[in-house]
Amino acid sequence: MPISLPTPELIARGASLLQAGQLVGFPTETVYGLGANALDPQAIALLYRTKGRPLHNPLIVHIPSLEEVASIALLSAREESRLELLEPFIPGPLTVVLKRREQVPPAVSAGKETIAVRAPSHHVAQQLLRAAALPIAAPSANRSSYVSPTTAQHVYDEFGNEIPLILDGGPCQVGIESTVLAIHEEEPLLLRPGIVTIEQLESKLGEPVRRASFSPQTPSSPGQLLHHYAPHTPVAFLDTIDTSTLPPRTALLAFAPPPPELLTLPFREICTLSAHGDFEHVARCLFGALRELDKKQLDLIVVERCNEAGVGLAIMDRLVRASATTVRQDGRYTRTTKRA
Ligand code: AMP
Ligand code: MG
Repeated sequence: MPISLPTPELIARGASLLQAGQLVGFPTETVYGLGANALDPQAIALLYRTKGRPLHNPLIVHIPSLEEVASIALLSAREESRLELLEPFIPGPLTVVLKRREQVPPAVSAGKETIAVRAPSHHVAQQLLRAAALPIAAPSANRSSYVSPTTAQHVYDEFGNEIPLILDGGPCQVGIESTVLAIHEEEPLLLRPGIVTIEQLESKLGEPVRRASFSPQTPSSPGQLLHHYAPHTPVAFLDTIDTSTLPPRTALLAFAPPPPELLTLPFREICTLSAHGDFEHVARCLFGALRELDKKQLDLIVVERCNEAGVGLAIMDRLVRASATTVRQDGRYTRTTKRA
């Protein structure tokens, strides 16, 4: 079993594997990543193949700190000053999109002239980055379009022995993928909401942040593909289903202990993500709960809606994706064929 506690010896082994063009599963504070040497086109090709990731979906390059950004991306004075203002989140769960330096292979960013860069704060990710002394391209360590992993076991469940090493840094503290912000544009553009909120970004930057339009047909960022985070079991919002004809094996995934009127419905199971409806806690537990429910041969997972303010925007984004391909046919809930 390739899951290992991150002793100094195993961090060093992870670094050598990366330098040799292999893949390593490792923890970050957001979700677990599947890492490859960002400067090695063959390692990048192996990463896309192993994940089954569409070649048009660019990767995030991980570096230890703000200092290394200039080795990956070209910075204008405006971008430098924006980065300085964003320093409270770097290292942290914020990815910035900038112009790519020519030395970085185009395959990393799916041929785009831009590049997404993040410095993870997790101590194991930090140690691995410093030991490898390389920028590490790392998407979430799941097969493309499935739910992101938040424990080392989730990564093993996905890839088994197909990857030589999975460093175990415990459950992820954030639990959802990083906020992605394009700062090379005239106006900063939020490409993916996360735990760093649009309100926090605007307050630090002192300028408005636009939200990328959310169109499944023409995604401006591949992370906007709607099916991106879906479990196999159909997922639907409570307010879109007929609660008088619930399928026999229906689970409710609730943010907080449900009100009495919901408890009278014949749910097979109720999974409550937070005792007090704390949305940071909901984010931390959401993907693990979806993975657990997905093992239970359920007919349907019913989810609630929340207010799209603060972290609520990121939670709703993930739930909209998780439910996007669910359809009701002949009284049963199924999924339409997923797009790659
Ligand atoms: P994942 O690796 O699953 O966390 O997804 C990374 C996400 O980062 C992508 O799906 C995009 O939304 C975003 N991203 C990465 N690189 C770029 C880029 N060059 N331009 C715009 N978005 C990017
Ligand atoms: Mg992903």
